[in-house]
Amino acid sequence: MIRTALFALGAFAMPLAVAANPAQPAQATQAFSNPFFEAKTNKYGAPAFDRIRPEHFRPAFYEGMRQHKAEIEAIANAKTAPTFDNTILAMEKAGLFLDDVSAVFFNMTSANSSAPIRAIQREMGPVMAAHSDSIRLNPKLFARVQAVYDKRSSLRTPEQRRLVERVYQGFVRSGAKLNPEQKARVSEINQRLSTLSTNFSQKVLADTNQFALVLETEADRAGLPQFFLDAALEAGRARGMPGKHVVTLSRSSVEPFLELSTSRAMREKAWRGWVLRGDNNDAEDTKATASEIVTLRQERAAILGYAHHAAFTLDDTMAKTPANVSALLNGVWEPAKAAVTRDAAEYLELAKSQGFKGDKLEPWDWRFYAEQKRRAKYNLNEDEVKPYFSLDSMLDAQFWVANQLFGLKFKEITGTVPVYHPDVRVWDVMEADGRHIGLFYGDFFSRESKQGGAWMSSYQGQDRVNGNLKPMVVNVLNYTKAPAGKPTLLSYNDAETLFHEFGHGLHGLLSNVAYPSLAGTAVSRDFVEFPAQIYEHWLGQRQVLERFARHSDTGAAMPKELLDKVMAARNHDQGFATVEFLSSALVDMDVHSQPNLPKGFDMGAFEKESLARIGMPREIVMRHRPTHFGHIFSGGYSAGYYSYMWSEVLDADGFRAFTETGDIFNKDVAKRLRTFVYGGGNSRDAAEAYRQYRGRDPDPKALLEMRGLADGTSNN
Ligand SMILES: [Zn+2]
Repeated sequence: MIRTALFALGAFAMPLAVAANPAQPAQATQAFSNPFFEAKTNKYGAPAFDRIRPEHFRPAFYEGMRQHKAEIEAIANAKTAPTFDNTILAMEKAGLFLDDVSAVFFNMTSANSSAPIRAIQREMGPVMAAHSDSIRLNPKLFARVQAVYDKRSSLRTPEQRRLVERVYQGFVRSGAKLNPEQKARVSEINQRLSTLSTNFSQKVLADTNQFALVLETEADRAGLPQFFLDAALEAGRARGMPGKHVVTLSRSSVEPFLELSTSRAMREKAWRGWVLRGDNNDAEDTKATASEIVTLRQERAAILGYAHHAAFTLDDTMAKTPANVSALLNGVWEPAKAAVTRDAAEYLELAKSQGFKGDKLEPWDWRFYAEQKRRAKYNLNEDEVKPYFSLDSMLDAQFWVANQLFGLKFKEITGTVPVYHPDVRVWDVMEADGRHIGLFYGDFFSRESKQGGAWMSSYQGQDRVNGNLKPMVVNVLNYTKAPAGKPTLLSYNDAETLFHEFGHGLHGLLSNVAYPSLAGTAVSRDFVEFPAQIYEHWLGQRQVLERFARHSDTGAAMPKELLDKVMAARNHDQGFATVEFLSSALVDMDVHSQPNLPKGFDMGAFEKESLARIGMPREIVMRHRPTHFGHIFSGGYSAGYYSYMWSEVLDADGFRAFTETGDIFNKDVAKRLRTFVYGGGNSRDAAEAYRQYRGRDPDPKALLEMRGLADGTSNN
């Protein structure tokens, strides 16, 4: 996942808000020291995290908006005829101060939040939405953009034409062509949506943190291997319960617990905590918030001339229409459900052979018996594999792959660049010849101040217009930290997530475009997962695992026999994973494809009906239920969660460009991958970028084959 703070004028920014001036008067000077107003002292120009305090953000935001507004006014009110340089390029140069503040701030709200940060977030969300709309809905500015757009065929470069088209589309999609009353309403909606999405994310974080399952007795801890107990002890310490073993609602805590705990009662407790996030009918319940978000989006889509929010959102993606998305998702849904039906019968049979009473598995049994089945079928278990996947060795692996593909070099410089938390590490990223490319930050461990999940974000994008600025990207993960002195051990899935986010990171780092609005990950939402997901493929390659899957105690390579089993078991339980994902994507599309949901509709009831419509298997729960579905209610993936699978069509087919040559590091293919995918940003249409990389359109069969769900292949 990526998180962006596109409150300034990114060409792909979603419409945010029209408004009066912010209530707070602008402050041009600062009476006290504020790092945002001072030159950055470190040699990379990195954010001064060591000196930034919550009280610095508010004045910096208002000053940033004041500057940006003045710059935009000057462009909009210019007396000269509109040109690319005095309009589009001038906008690319505007709002830099605000970009800096926003990038740092919105990374803090997700990765290192605190009560003061959350208060500022609640205040600034609608103010920033209004600021954005005051630009997007400025009629004089739009008239100039339109004038440049109308003459775009005479522009010097294809990238200039692309930029003008993207900026123009951004204005139109924000409502630049609406009448004044409509603009006012859209802006009101945007400000309210900003508040609601903040509420949503803050409630989910609070609800996640208020859960802690303490494993008091030996019986509570039954079946748990040492690595899990170590991490649970560390979680207890972090939660102020030293000496206690604690399961938290971080995915890397609760999922292995559900796989490994032999205490069915404790599994049920953990599972309930996990799936009921945001759905406890208390102060942190999110159902009403989600419902209001949906109906406001529905109203905004109607004002903008679309049948519903999904039609509006998809109009600006590779997929283009809800029908195209449905065709993809439904084509995978039935084979995935069939795989689940087969697996459910097998798991139940296995469970009964182990003394399970009853005639059906419950959702808190699924992961446990899937793991039991994996052990039985492949003679493989999680605690045998895990010591070979230490965080450090997997970091080495992801860097090595980037070196093999693109010649990149990574030098850890933690301690020389300011960070916002002592766990954050930093690398200098260089070309083969040592030229500086950018900075890569890694923030790997779960903590209460961090939102759940994993994502990439940027403190600064690649920018040639404003002084050849180098990218600074961050990967934020939620691994359970091992106690001091012990290595943090990952599951294979955890390692895949590491590679995934690093793929996003490379998309930011390798950006090589002329205009900052088109840089890095500012691409269509259903293309943006492609560079992340294709990178996951290298983790699963023998050449990589042989080299980097090393025992954390002995340093020994994984025995060939074990490696063979890991490779063979990669598609184990794929039906579950696919159904878990697809149900989330289908409900997202369903709720955002409704034209007439009444105000205040019951999100809980809608979820039930929607799942009934698709015939959701009873043993499986959505990967993200609506009550904690941050992607769609606070993360910019609304009517867009399908994007992962859309991108998977590309990565399944796209990785074959390497395997077909017999060399997973083939230099020619890697060069095209870098030029058209990792480096290309949004400088060309996404489908065209793929064709330039692959030489043709993607073959959709590759996806089902990769998931082991194609006709004639085993589901395992
Ligand atoms: Zn992603």
